[in-house]
Amino acid sequence: MRREQKNFDNVIQTGIDFVKKNRNKIDSINFGTGEPTVEPSFFSFCDQLNRVAPNVTLGVTTNGNLAKAARNPYNLDVFIRCIEDIDISLDFGDAERQDESRNCEGAFQGVIETLKLCQKYGKNATVVSVMHKYNCSYSNFSSMIRIARLYNASFRINILRPTVDFSFALPYKNLKDNFINLIREYEVESIADPLLAALVEADCPNGDPTAESSFRILPNGYVTPSTYLLDADWQVKRLDEIDNIDSMHELDSFKKIKAVEIPQSCGKCRMREICKGGVFDRRWLWYHDFSENDPYCPLRFGDSLDWKQLSGNVIYSKKRKSFVHDGYLPTLIFNPTINARALSRWDNIYLNYRSSYNSNEPDQYILKAEEITSQKTKRKVLDLGSGLGRNGKYFLSKGDYVSFIESSKVANDILVKSLLDKNIMSGYSVIECDIVEFLENEKNESFDIVLAMHIISHGTIDIIASSYIKNIYRVLKKNGIACITLPSITDERCPNHGADIYEYTLEDGPEKGIVHSFYSEAALLSEINGFEVLEIDEKTNDSGNAHWNLILRKR
Ligand code: SF4
Repeated sequence: MRREQKNFDNVIQTGIDFVKKNRNKIDSINFGTGEPTVEPSFFSFCDQLNRVAPNVTLGVTTNGNLAKAARNPYNLDVFIRCIEDIDISLDFGDAERQDESRNCEGAFQGVIETLKLCQKYGKNATVVSVMHKYNCSYSNFSSMIRIARLYNASFRINILRPTVDFSFALPYKNLKDNFINLIREYEVESIADPLLAALVEADCPNGDPTAESSFRILPNGYVTPSTYLLDADWQVKRLDEIDNIDSMHELDSFKKIKAVEIPQSCGKCRMREICKGGVFDRRWLWYHDFSENDPYCPLRFGDSLDWKQLSGNVIYSKKRKSFVHDGYLPTLIFNPTINARALSRWDNIYLNYRSSYNSNEPDQYILKAEEITSQKTKRKVLDLGSGLGRNGKYFLSKGDYVSFIESSKVANDILVKSLLDKNIMSGYSVIECDIVEFLENEKNESFDIVLAMHIISHGTIDIIASSYIKNIYRVLKKNGIACITLPSITDERCPNHGADIYEYTLEDGPEKGIVHSFYSEAALLSEINGFEVLEIDEKTNDSGNAHWNLILRKR
């Protein structure tokens, strides 16, 4: 709904009249595209719709402005009484990139505040993301799904449907990798995409739901059979020309969809009875020709149809909710609870031994390193293996920008929750990935400070020398400071105190089964070429664990 459209008030009245006449045949209405909550009459429109059709579920897709709009008491009252289903759009899992992508400072904060509002009033909230070429990284989706998880929301994905500009279109490989990860890691609420459902053998009982039981009303009043089929070919009648909702099935645009057949190119594909050639709107948007099959059909890329081999069986959500968006467009809905099979060793360590890692105090060497840095404000800090974040949080409190790198979903959940609970929304990103992978892909000279506290010891000697230390040096700016802790050869857990370097898999304690590498001072100093050693100190704790603490400056 847009005020600038002609006869805005008539359009509103047309909508109310239509719903009143057809209320027994309408289950739900969603307001999406654009931002309905910025329109002053949106809430009174919902109020009126609710009065004429109290059994129709109302939903809204918001960019997070809903929380701001609901500061108005009347809007809040309508929200509480009339709107049940809230989709909150998110493109990136951190404030800096979300605000930039929306060109709006505070956009990320609006998302979080809207989720909190939904939680407070028990609304059915879903974080929805359009997956495209530039936001599809594993760590970005992990961050967005985490936000849904922290606020008891579901997570919905629309694969980008380009209309004119295909430069943002999701590449096939990214779709495959992401979808397989999602199936492996999270419970499924609904997969209403017949191609993707077929590839992992998921339920998709109604196939492509386009033109079956839903339609879209465009701002100009025309109705179309699909959220994504918008060009003139699909706009055959306006809502004010339609009296009975059932008559929509007789419109040419709806009949055209129903007449679509499985493309010849699908031949004897073993998935043809479920997939049926893929999603209608994708076939039209990519080729303007329904005789083509889905642009993401793996056979177009010479790939295998058996994605289930990689994803494992689909695990369905035990408490499957009902959604306004379920079954009216080809979309994917997940319960963001982490599947047990996706929990890593470190996730289990944080689940079972959280108290061992629970300190909020920064390591004392961090404080020393902070004193040494010449730049005192707006530093870029890299916290490798950040765990629950005690060291990075210290720099965050100083106004620095912190990149927390941690592969454990459980640790990242605890860290992000602790920050969002304190309304700390920006100044950081939490990147869920392997440290080596992060370091090897990061640009040269990106950080003022790198923290690797009790973390790069969890690796073989080869990885420590060839990847960790070399890359820490590379990603530091000139004169940047590295704070590194490595186990000493005198550590009680090391069975060979006489060696210079000893690689050993721990047999006890929370980190049982994890490789540690123990160093003598001489061996350690030989690994850190290019650094000026500002401090080297050996410390042994009450349990006999001995560590070298190093503060280094990049020359
Ligand atoms: S060949 Fe056709 S039916 Fe088979 S997976 Fe591809 S699009 Fe689907």
